[in-house]
Order: sequence, then structure tokens, then C-alpha cells
Amino acid sequence: MTMNAFALYEGSYSVDGSKKFLPFNPETDDPKSRPGSLFIYVQPFLVKTNKHLMVLDTGLGQRAANGQLLIHENIRRAGYQPEDVNLVLMSHLHYDHSGGMTDGTQLAFPNAEYVIQRGEWENAYSKPSASYRTEIFDIVQRSGNIHFVEGSGQLTDDISYELTGGHCEFHQVFTIKNAGKTIFFGGDILPEPEQLLRRFIAKYDFDGRKAMQLREEYGHKAALEHWLCLFYHAKSTAMGYVEENEGRFKIVTV
Ligand SMILES: [Zn+2]
Repeated sequence: MTMNAFALYEGSYSVDGSKKFLPFNPETDDPKSRPGSLFIYVQPFLVKTNKHLMVLDTGLGQRAANGQLLIHENIRRAGYQPEDVNLVLMSHLHYDHSGGMTDGTQLAFPNAEYVIQRGEWENAYSKPSASYRTEIFDIVQRSGNIHFVEGSGQLTDDISYELTGGHCEFHQVFTIKNAGKTIFFGGDILPEPEQLLRRFIAKYDFDGRKAMQLREEYGHKAALEHWLCLFYHAKSTAMGYVEENEGRFKIVTV
């Protein structure tokens, strides 16, 4: 028995105050031509255990040249079928994580339970924000495939969820323990390995101080318990182990 993880790279983008995501090619595009923008990389993950084929956050819902959802193409390339995905774990519902929950008219993973923190779902509807696109959630709601969770707990024997807040009020992270390994998906609490290497308070977080504390806390645990960490917004190191030496973190690529 093994547990395997795959990064489903969706590309790099710039995002400005309007929360529109524009494809950005660092080789050919000039960042100066997009003043006031943040530059992000996006990669959902696929994890296979003996019981589940799961997607962790769903990307922007970009299409490949053949018109298929890019996340579907990437799953096939990894050797699996989108129809076989039986769990979709959502850290939160901002557009760069939820755009691929559907294909625009129906669920992208029709045979999956979508695991969503209830407070996040309610905020998405009740707090108007350009970060949430409720037309996506309407489709998910009609499907009947939602599994709401509240607070922290155990989803299955091997999957736990933890309400963190920090990035947004009801952000959650997931830990998967299977076949003697531990995989940690920190969503936007631990989105890039580089963020472990320096202390900072990010303006884009709902509670920047808490988000910073959580990053450190998870960094310590990841090093101590040898977690394989999945970094959703990583530039290059999508998956890695954390080592800690005299209070300094180091990322070890796999
Ligand atoms: Zn994000």
C-alpha cells in the first residue's frame, strides 16, 4: 500500500484589485506592464490512497487547448480519470481555489463529495466580495454532493480537517495519514515554501498576524512529524518536506 500525490499545475497569473486572473508568462510577459498586481502560481493536488482518489482545491477552472478542463487533463496525465475522484477537499472558496469545482454548468467531479467548511460557504453568500463567485456555488449546491464540516475533526479514519482562520475567517487545512505517511495540505496558510523562510504579515490575509503564527506552527509540526507538504501557490517546489535547524526552516524537495 502506498499513498501518492500529484501536483496539477494550472499556470501562473497576475491578479489586480478587480480580482481578475490574467495568464502571465514569466518568460515573455513584463510584470511592469501590470502595475498593482500580485503574481501567483496555481496548482491543485491529486492524492491517491487505498480508499480515496481526492482533489485538494480545484484551481481556476482553466481550459486546455482542446477545450477540456485543464484539471481533468492533468488528472488523466497522472494516470487517473476525473470520474474516479471521490473526494474534493476545499481549504476555502476564493476563486483561485474554487473555479474548477464545476465546468461552468455541472460538477467537475460528479462522483465526489465536496468537503466544505460551513462558515466559509455562508460567508461566500452573505459577504459580497469579488473573491467569491456564487454562480459556481449555485451549481455545487444543486448537485447535492456537498459534505459540510464545522470546526475541526476527523473526516475519515485517515483524513482530518482543522479550522484555522487566518487567510479568511473559515479557512481549513487537511492532514492525510495513510500507509505510514502523512500529507499536509495547508491551502493559503502554507501556500509557498518560501513563506516558511521569513516572518511577515501579509496584507491579503484576513488576520495577517494569526496567519503568520499558523505558518510557523505548521512548519514546526511538519519538520517534527516528517509531513509531505503540498504548496498550492508554489513557484517551483510544489511538494516538499520541512527541516528545522536552530529555529530556521529548510525545504527538502521530493
Ligand atoms: Zn489562493
